[in-house]
Amino acid sequence: MESALAKQVYDKLLSVYGPQKCFLEHMTPFQLLVATILSAQCTDKRVNMVTRDLFKRWPDAESFANCGREELEQAIFTCGFYRAKADHILKAAKAIVEQFHGELPGTMEGLLKLPGVGRKTANVVLGDALGQPGFPVDTHVRRLSALIGLSDSSDPEVIESDICAVMPPETWAQFSHLLIVHGRTRCPANRPDCPGCELAKICRHTKAGKSAGMKSSAAKKTVRSSAKKASSKSAVGKNVVKKAASPARSAKKTSSKSGTGS
Ligand code: SF4
Repeated sequence: MESALAKQVYDKLLSVYGPQKCFLEHMTPFQLLVATILSAQCTDKRVNMVTRDLFKRWPDAESFANCGREELEQAIFTCGFYRAKADHILKAAKAIVEQFHGELPGTMEGLLKLPGVGRKTANVVLGDALGQPGFPVDTHVRRLSALIGLSDSSDPEVIESDICAVMPPETWAQFSHLLIVHGRTRCPANRPDCPGCELAKICRHTKAGKSAGMKSSAAKKTVRSSAKKASSKSAVGKNVVKKAASPARSAKKTSSKSGTGS
């Protein structure tokens, strides 16, 4: 990928939307970890409604590690997949208490050791709670990267690697937020507003559509997928980690663990 395209996209989106904050409410890195686990296949709005009470009841890893499974399942029921999510939260909280003295590990490698934590969740926590570079690839980032031409891959880890290779680390978390907000507003999966889009002049999707049709296989795939998902929500994607790439490739052996993350 040309670094010029990524920088143009970043600058344009930043000028349109301004700096974006993490969409999930939290007071601590651990709370963001829990919120990100809950956000899989659920809207951020719903997660924020649930965590407002949840974090009053169980504010930290220790309290989660000692809470009852049934109580927790009931408390997070409306987020969907409540059994699996409760399981991931309980196991992660216990591991943090037992192996990390109650503190969240501050590195990608450490975070990936936690049960139920995949690369996307770890990137969210790194970028939005620990002040470190992190580029989470959710469903919007994945879709827009193909449409715009930021990556030719549909593999989240390769997308992460492609974009991080050409953008400064201090922009990674913000770039992910900007792509997400653009995906939610101007470029939803079922009705992208290309004529009104601020990226129309540089987006591969519009360029390909205007000239010789859809040249990019990634773009073709995304358009087909968008049509199929006409009724899908703009929530979250899965944590899928299959192979490593730099910087993602450096953590290859830690691999994926679950489909959690926002
Ligand atoms: S030009 Fe169309 S496909 Fe490209 S980002 Fe904008 S709305 Fe999405």
